[in-house]
Amino acid sequence: MGELKNCKKCGRMFSAENGQLFCSKCRTNDEDDFKVVREYIYDNPNSTVHDVHEATEVSEEKILKFLRQGRLILKGEGVGLECERCGKSINTGRFCDKCAHELKSGFQQAFGGEEKKEAPASNAKKGAGMHIKKY
Ligand SMILES: [Zn+2]
Ligand SMILES: [Zn+2]
Repeated sequence: MGELKNCKKCGRMFSAENGQLFCSKCRTNDEDDFKVVREYIYDNPNSTVHDVHEATEVSEEKILKFLRQGRLILKGEGVGLECERCGKSINTGRFCDKCAHELKSGFQQAFGGEEKKEAPASNAKKGAGMHIKKY
């Protein structure tokens, strides 16, 4: 049996059990949702955002937020998350690899559009020296 209280967060009347302060709606906070979503993705890594939403009842917006924060990764293609810069489908974070790289190196300030350049020879060298040196 619960006692009628006003939710501390939204003010809605609800039946409180064990001294609960928040209504059932406010009680499911981000962290709880995150755990549910994380667990579902752990078992179903190839799901889309929509699948996860249907299965967990966590809003797609919130799932997208977790993905953008890089806290969750969906393994499939076209999961419902897009690069904020070019709109390409991505699995986690805010930008696709290409945009993330370009933003990092400050390309977007130097070039407005797509600039195709041959990769400089130094790129090949970098790949070749992947072993770890101990000094
Ligand atoms: Zn509430
Ligand atoms: Zn992009």
